[in-house]
Amino acid sequence: MRVELTVLGSGTSLGVPTIGCRCRVCLSSNPRDKRTRPSLLLRYNGRAVVIDTGPDFRFQALRAGLDRLDAVVFTHGHADHVLGLDDTRAFTLNQNHTIPIYGNRSALQGIRRIFQYAFDGFAPYGGIPSIQDHLITGPLELFDLEFVPVKVLHGRLEVLGFRFGPVAYLTDYNVIPESSLELLRGVETIFLDALRHEPHPAHMTVAAALVEVERIRPQQAFFTHIAHDLGHDETNGTLPGHVRLCHDGMQLEFEVI
Ligand SMILES: [Zn+2]
Ligand SMILES: [Zn+2]
Ligand SMILES: [Zn+2]
Repeated sequence: MRVELTVLGSGTSLGVPTIGCRCRVCLSSNPRDKRTRPSLLLRYNGRAVVIDTGPDFRFQALRAGLDRLDAVVFTHGHADHVLGLDDTRAFTLNQNHTIPIYGNRSALQGIRRIFQYAFDGFAPYGGIPSIQDHLITGPLELFDLEFVPVKVLHGRLEVLGFRFGPVAYLTDYNVIPESSLELLRGVETIFLDALRHEPHPAHMTVAAALVEVERIRPQQAFFTHIAHDLGHDETNGTLPGHVRLCHDGMQLEFEVI
């Protein structure tokens, strides 16, 4: 099965440019220095599955020409990963279907709190997202593609990364436990958190992400959740050839047997 992957967003929680910032990356004219909030789209078997719906989801869906949405998988419940969930209603409007959403307990609790109106069964004027939440307790099969949850630590919060065939996506963490490294064995392409150079209590630095690349040994690695500290071209110039910053709109295709 052929899977087409699109990076919908590659930026940190504030996005790049950051509102009000006059730094050289925020003022850069390079389109690859424009980063919306982190999200991934997978298209396969005529289906479309998104990982995280951040505040830029509407814009990202328009930009990617998304005309259907079959499921949403959440890494965690932070605002920069969930706030666009309301816009999924564009895909269910006047259609008799519900979009299943998947997450761990804390992610689903956060989503139920923020989007209470979508769950309380009271919608006097319609216009609410038609979603059904499902707790992730183990590997998940969505339309013949298996999503293996990979637990990572984001400060003190447990967050899920996902592996699907030869590719894995890990955003928002600063620790990959040993048991999770096992699940990443043999992965060919990996997306990893690399916020900036300066240490952060819940994210990886570029240097720390490079150490993870050495441990996991994928054929290629892409860094994501990138802050305005890192210029795209300049940072790529300092990285090994098989490691790149990813960028909004980046696509790759892979085969899952
Ligand atoms: Zn985040
Ligand atoms: Zn800036
Ligand atoms: Zn987060």
